[in-house]
Amino acid sequence: MYKEEINLKYLLNKYNLISKKSLGQHFLFEKNIIYKILEAANIQKNSHVYEVGPGPGSLTIELAKMQPKSITVIEKDERCLNALNEIKSLTKTQINIISGDAVKFNEISLGKENMINISNLPYNISTKLLVKWIENRTPFTKYILMFQREVAERLVSKKNEKTYSRISVLTQWFYEIEKLFNVPNTAFTPKPKVDSTVIMLKPRPKPLYPANIIYLQKVLRVCFGHRRKMLKTSLSFLHSNPEEILNKAGINKSLRPEDLSIKEFCFISNELENSS
Ligand code: SAM
Repeated sequence: MYKEEINLKYLLNKYNLISKKSLGQHFLFEKNIIYKILEAANIQKNSHVYEVGPGPGSLTIELAKMQPKSITVIEKDERCLNALNEIKSLTKTQINIISGDAVKFNEISLGKENMINISNLPYNISTKLLVKWIENRTPFTKYILMFQREVAERLVSKKNEKTYSRISVLTQWFYEIEKLFNVPNTAFTPKPKVDSTVIMLKPRPKPLYPANIIYLQKVLRVCFGHRRKMLKTSLSFLHSNPEEILNKAGINKSLRPEDLSIKEFCFISNELENSS
């Protein structure tokens, strides 16, 4: 399908692409890692693939070889568009190239079902994107995502662990999450300072416990925003009588956010909503 020389090095040279730090540009050239990502994605002929930040397309080239029904890529750096168009011209797989900001883009407007999100995310916006996908209930059936290793650790973190945080609760409330494998920084050019981790997310049929995401977000923000404070103190930013809320939820007022389970955060969120 492709001339042998169509690879990352060829595309970077041909289009004179020098990576921009501000866009989190660390391009993945290690083929074995790309193959492991593809294996985890288990792409079928009827799959629609969505990729954030394809860059010059090292992952996109290999995705196209799997011949899914379509691939939609969204890239902020216009300098990458020629490289992506070259890949598009060389494959029979339908590739839609969107030039824009993935944070602002409404994926629901693509009108596709059975959409798999396979992305090596720009580090600076990775959690922002994840929160957006949860808030908008974006219709991806599966995500294979590369995160900075510390961020991935926060995503899978459980209560009482040091890295347990707002994004751990929100992500695990909404998704089934599996850490797949670590990726050394030597797999990228230019080499980032930190290693990465690939994780798989699958939306739960419904969130783990009932809660209104608006209230849940408020509770998580205020509690983890003051990690060292007791819950009764943090929650006083949201309610005039936080002890009453905690009593109703059956939670000790002196606990700190890292002591609470997802279920308990949902209880607090529901009590707060009921009392507002
Ligand atoms: N997928 C490529 C790979 O694996 O080699 C590149 C991954 S690189 C870590 C992140 C990519 O996201 C860059 O190409 C960057 O230009 C792009 N990007 C950064 N911010 C973006 C945004 N807000 N919307 C879309 N793409 C963005």
